[in-house]
Amino acid sequence: MKITVVGAGAMGSLFGALLSESGISVRLYDIWAEHVKAINENGLGIELDGKTRSVNVKATTDKKTIGKADLAIIFVKSTRTGDAARVASELVSSTGFVLTLQNGMGNADIIAEVIDPGRIIAGTTSHGATMLEPGLIRHAGIGPTLIGMWSGDEKAAAQSIADVFNKAGIATETMDDIRSVVWKKLIINVGINAITALTAIKNGQILDLSSTRALVHAAVEEAMEVARTHGIKIPDDMVEHVFQVAEATGANRSSMGQDVDNKRQTEIGAINGAVVKEAQKLGLNVPVNQTLTTLLETLQAHYS
Ligand code: NAD
Repeated sequence: MKITVVGAGAMGSLFGALLSESGISVRLYDIWAEHVKAINENGLGIELDGKTRSVNVKATTDKKTIGKADLAIIFVKSTRTGDAARVASELVSSTGFVLTLQNGMGNADIIAEVIDPGRIIAGTTSHGATMLEPGLIRHAGIGPTLIGMWSGDEKAAAQSIADVFNKAGIATETMDDIRSVVWKKLIINVGINAITALTAIKNGQILDLSSTRALVHAAVEEAMEVARTHGIKIPDDMVEHVFQVAEATGANRSSMGQDVDNKRQTEIGAINGAVVKEAQKLGLNVPVNQTLTTLLETLQAHYS
């Protein structure tokens, strides 16, 4: 199987390197020339538990040098999914598949504007990675990856990708109801990301005040109502689950918080903003998510 990663930042580099180490032919494609140069000159450095190893994997900024792949994995931030999907559509073979493990809601639908929905696999991953410098990432967390067909029933394709991932040490399961999986991850991000990003706190600190917990509760319940009105199965104890995740990742700054700290555009539009968009389609009111989205958009529009 030939795999191309479109968007080889922290997560794309990690997945590309793990697959390459297992013997798969992998090409990393990214528009960040300095990072690509560092990978090609020194290998991709992966720091894990204080030790750094170097992985030999090919990277490029020139998509014309990449042949057709059986699988394109999109790992750009959700603000760039449209561009990445167009690149993936050029780089994947006519029988190939496109996989998104990005956070947020709407990525698969954006990809479906240029790729046959029956060739799109979506999912979530609990691996975590941080970009330390060009050519060097930290493998910050290890956990399950869940994937499934976004549309259609080519389950064998999702299974063969899961098999390749498992062989590479990326523990992966296939799921029939992948929309529910993506929504559940979205709802966790809805409860934690914007609130921590706006207030400069760590994940665990959303538990400290009853007023902050009430805000998380309200944002999560709005998202649950939107999901359920869409016919998505969401467990009743989702608020409790969000609090458990906040506790388990208590010392971490959320990815949206890190984006704000570094004055980068955030994925707000695909997280709380996606709840607002979906609610509008359904005629529902989601004032808490609307407010969090507007505050975050205002903050990032006025970075100094
Ligand atoms: P990142 O910013 O480290 O990497 C994104 C990469 O995409 C960058 O290197 C950027 O140069 C590249 N890029 C931007 N536009 C491009 C284009 N048009 N073509 C090719 N490359 C392009 O982001 P990340 O942390 O790796 O996150 C990627 C996605 O995975 C996000 O949706 C994020 O929410 C999700 N995710 C991240 C983690 C994590 O721990 N970092 C965990 C789970 C899910």
